[in-house]
Amino acid sequence: MSSSGGGGGSSGSPCVDRMMPLSVLLKRELTSEKIEKPDILHGLANKSKKGEDFTFLKTECQRVPGNGVTTFSVFALFDGHNGSTAAIYAKENLLNNILCAIPADVNRDEWLAGLPRALVAGFVKTDKDFQNKAKTSGTTVTFVIIDGWTVTVASVGDSRCILESAEGSLYLLSADHRLDENKEEVERITASGGEVGRLNLAGGAEIGPLRCWPGGLCLSRSIGDMDVGEFIVPIPHVKQVKLSNAGGRLIICSDGVWDALSFQSAFDCSRGLPADVAANKIVKEAVLVKGLRDDTTCIVVDLLPPEKISPSAALTKKQGMKGLKHMFRKKSYESPSHHLVRNYFEPYAVEELFEDGSAVLAQRLHMVYPVCNIFKLLLCAVCQVEMKPGEGISVHACSSKSAKVRPWDGPLLCRDCQIKKEAMEGKKPSRDLSRMRV
Ligand SMILES: [Zn+2]
Repeated sequence: MSSSGGGGGSSGSPCVDRMMPLSVLLKRELTSEKIEKPDILHGLANKSKKGEDFTFLKTECQRVPGNGVTTFSVFALFDGHNGSTAAIYAKENLLNNILCAIPADVNRDEWLAGLPRALVAGFVKTDKDFQNKAKTSGTTVTFVIIDGWTVTVASVGDSRCILESAEGSLYLLSADHRLDENKEEVERITASGGEVGRLNLAGGAEIGPLRCWPGGLCLSRSIGDMDVGEFIVPIPHVKQVKLSNAGGRLIICSDGVWDALSFQSAFDCSRGLPADVAANKIVKEAVLVKGLRDDTTCIVVDLLPPEKISPSAALTKKQGMKGLKHMFRKKSYESPSHHLVRNYFEPYAVEELFEDGSAVLAQRLHMVYPVCNIFKLLLCAVCQVEMKPGEGISVHACSSKSAKVRPWDGPLLCRDCQIKKEAMEGKKPSRDLSRMRV
């Protein structure tokens, strides 16, 4: 078995790695992952008002199908609005759409590096497929993938994911796409032809949060919402961090919690409690403050050093380290950050690997990564449909008039996804909105 597998290897070649059979590589990963993998404990609590919050919790997902060693975990929260159809659709299809956007033959490092891009493709495909079903309703998504100590979070809308590292620092891993909180997004929507304003009462007084018209949605990004403009895009903010092997705790909640509790008080009120008890405590606390005015959902995920299975042992040392030591600064969407150089010296520091929140699809699908094979030339970079040579349209087409785009400049989109892309950029409506306004 060891010597077979395609041949072509000249004996005595120094390039041993290139010739290594997959089974050996996997065994090697098994050995290193035995050391690297945290124990993951999670808990979920929900108090329902409208029944539009949905969760997806799955541990032991297989990165290599059929191989139970190379696994990752997914924790996702969907907060629906105008009905629950979009939330349920995203819950059922999003993970698969993301995984389909990653080639099968990559190693673990390439898989992790390709995730941000696959998350963008998966979110856009899910949105496009759902809209093709001509169903109204929309949903926020906070999608967390944990592989070893690396945590990748993709988010649209206003549910939030916060990390507390072992030494007690808080990190915001999701974006806030509430129009009230995000000036950059208001400018993007206005530039794409949308109107942003508050509700007007008969007397001319303006009330409530900033909303986008038509539709009146107070979020700038979501999955679904075909009755709002296409400038409400499904392109997620993506952040990828690596925890030290001291671990940490993630709290993922819908706005029902965050409208009542600060990040710090959510951690403080649940500190030292096991994940399931902690989730219940946070929801109880939020309802105590504001009453049950909205769906209120909380997922708590503990990443623990394998030997410290008792959360109290790992987490109580944080007591007394109150206050925000630091949070990642909110970066402009214009400047994605790639932190590939690892030169941290703090033993418990959380390492920031990647962050990009741009709404420009061409930027998000184009990545300068050492993953040359991450896009296959003849597959649509969003929906993965196979295209004939010459059929694909470069994702850079029309993106800047000054730069010349050669027809073979990848990544490429199929015709449908190119139409979707231009609609998201406000260039033309992808469908007739007037029929929706009856
Ligand atoms: Zn496509």
